[in-house]
Amino acid sequence: MPELPEVETVRKGLLDFLPLKINKVERTPELASILKTEEFSLKGLTISSLERKGKVLIFHLGNGKTVVSRFGMAGSWEVSEEKNKKKHNHLQLHCTSSQGAVFLSYVDARRFGKMHIGYQEVTKRELAKVGVDVTTEEFNEKVLRDIFKKYPDRQIKPLLLEQEKLAGIGNYLACEILAHCKVRPTRRCKTITKEETKKMVWATKKVVSESIEKNGLTFTKTTGYRDVLGNAGEFFDGLVVFRQKLCKMCGDGPVKKIVLATRGTFYCPQCQK
Ligand SMILES: [Zn+2]
Repeated sequence: MPELPEVETVRKGLLDFLPLKINKVERTPELASILKTEEFSLKGLTISSLERKGKVLIFHLGNGKTVVSRFGMAGSWEVSEEKNKKKHNHLQLHCTSSQGAVFLSYVDARRFGKMHIGYQEVTKRELAKVGVDVTTEEFNEKVLRDIFKKYPDRQIKPLLLEQEKLAGIGNYLACEILAHCKVRPTRRCKTITKEETKKMVWATKKVVSESIEKNGLTFTKTTGYRDVLGNAGEFFDGLVVFRQKLCKMCGDGPVKKIVLATRGTFYCPQCQK
């Protein structure tokens, strides 16, 4: 599932092609289950800039018009010189870019992604559902402490995944962040100390920035997340507990896998208390 670093990598990849003038729009009937708002046609409009909040990508088309895109489980934006003939390509935009004619496609095999094509009100409404982006300066110890105070009995790991509280963290990031700040994923918020909270902010910034640096995470060579040109992310070697057998922090602790709020959760019982 694309998390903040993967969405940021897609955003950066698309920047190379801006401005992108949309000359023609092709769509499948299945797009209807992804496209939740459609206030105007994209034909003739130009994507002039791109913004990201958490895992949400925002395309600016001028005059307050935007496309707000959530990738869901497996959605992605792809750029190609040839027409993109992938089966799950639900929206194909024929564009003139800064690098010549290209096709910009939204490919989503699972169709859990969501898209809104709308004016400022729609953008505002959608972004209001998203909490503090963990790459911004607004994300600090106080933000975490306030959340912990509000939900003292909740377990920390499922809470980190809730986008309306903190934006950008998904399953692998949450496991890695908790490993680096040595907090067990099952801990109740009220038990997390001031020192641990401070470390959690540090660990979040560290893991997220390192993953962005490596263009995000791709698990397998054949499937999973790709950037706009089809390249895999290379953060896999940076993982210390997620899908690991041995903890890479202590070097010898066997990593334990549990299921927490339906998500596979990895931690080192030796390092994380
Ligand atoms: Zn360990």
